[in-house]
Amino acid sequence: MSISIPFDNSYARLPAQLFTHLEPTPVSEPKLIAYNAALAAELGITDEGNEEDLARIFAGNDVPTGAQPLAQLYAGHQFGQWNPQLGDGRAILLGEAKGRDIQLKGAGPTPYSRNGDGRAWLGPVLREYVVSEAMHALGIPTTRALAAVETGEDIYRETALPGAVITRVASSHIRVGTFQVLAARGDQEGLHALFEHAVGRHYPDAGSPLEFLNAVISAQATLVVKWLSVGFIHGVMNTDNCAISGETIDYGPCAFMDAFHPMQVFSSIDRRGRYAYGNQPDIIVWNMAQLATALVPLVEDRDQAVAEFTAAVHAMPAMIQRLWREAFAKKIGIANPRPEDEKLVTDLMGLMGKQEADFTNTFRGLSEGNARDQFVDREAFDDWSETWEKRLETEDNPLDLMRSVNPSVIPRNHRIEAMITSAVQGDYALFHTLQDALTSPYDTPTVFPDLTHPPKDEERVTATFC
Ligand code: AMP
Ligand code: MG
Ligand code: MG
Repeated sequence: MSISIPFDNSYARLPAQLFTHLEPTPVSEPKLIAYNAALAAELGITDEGNEEDLARIFAGNDVPTGAQPLAQLYAGHQFGQWNPQLGDGRAILLGEAKGRDIQLKGAGPTPYSRNGDGRAWLGPVLREYVVSEAMHALGIPTTRALAAVETGEDIYRETALPGAVITRVASSHIRVGTFQVLAARGDQEGLHALFEHAVGRHYPDAGSPLEFLNAVISAQATLVVKWLSVGFIHGVMNTDNCAISGETIDYGPCAFMDAFHPMQVFSSIDRRGRYAYGNQPDIIVWNMAQLATALVPLVEDRDQAVAEFTAAVHAMPAMIQRLWREAFAKKIGIANPRPEDEKLVTDLMGLMGKQEADFTNTFRGLSEGNARDQFVDREAFDDWSETWEKRLETEDNPLDLMRSVNPSVIPRNHRIEAMITSAVQGDYALFHTLQDALTSPYDTPTVFPDLTHPPKDEERVTATFC
């Protein structure tokens, strides 16, 4: 084993009740699927050796020097229901390199596995790899994918499926639920230690719990608006899947919309649509209220903390609304929106929703001159367009602005599903094609132009599974 990772493991120095030390469970036949060499370089990883060495390390068979493997404790609200203990049930943090977590997901059971097998199957591993890297290329804060490995072992969901491990890199894995578990247990020592750690790692300028809360609120408001602006639906915005850093984390049943429906849901487990596209702004406010609650015990004057934290959370909807207006104004070519521009945006989206226009291709089409093709009732679009074009006369460079914020290629569900189906049969061509095209999402793809096409009827994916 020749890999060298410059580990410094600050989480392992926190109070012991925050995690459990344990090593990954080795797998029978590790085989490397993908390795993100550019990200490895950012992390200071050197002397990688050959593919077999990499496969053994990122399957968890070899623990690299300097790693202090552990599973993290957390709790969370799942679909609004409090669950007092979750934790890394199948993920193991190897340690931190350049301040960023390197974590194996699907690396075997832990004390937090509950009834789970500690494993992941190939499909979700590839989805996370492709979608998280696509999000990064889109400029959206996210965890990254460093490696994917097949385990050579079958795992059982409804049927036998090939097992796999993904190596996730995150600026940290501290979640709202990490604070919640300590607050719920009345663990003052743990809560204070986690708070100091999280401040140091993410928001060093935050001098108080209130400033920290405001920093997280601002990061999460920014994140959710970025999701909305590309038609992304996270799918499981439980408080344990909500990172303090403001990065997108936990790619389960996530999906990008094709046809625009304001209340689109894909996740098979989200039966009531709690995490629908258009509910995401409300849910993130709810999640921040849960964080605020968990931070209260950090403050001596609890009444004052409750008053201040409540005001901070109550200010969030207006913040999201402002960010949304700015982001969507840019999507129609307006750099400095005026109040009346909001109507231009909502009128367009109203038409899109009514006519099931493709979200990505409509916005992209505005700069390419073919947005009209997305509409059945073209005259309705033309009417809108007339007002819009007049408004753009006073903008300096609307075309470049739109091309910089409206992607051409996104990881469409039907492509992801097709990629998974062929990978299960041993064919990784589509995995590589998708990854290549998604590295430059704002360029019109030349090699595989059909990656911009919405699904045909028979290709349409109506539900996603985690
Ligand atoms: P998620 O819905 O992916 O956020 O997962 C919720 C919780 O279930 C987390 O504590 C996970 O670690 C745990 N979990 C999910 N899948 C498994 C599995 N196959 N084995 C053990 N724990 C799991
Ligand atoms: Mg999770
Ligand atoms: Mg998950």
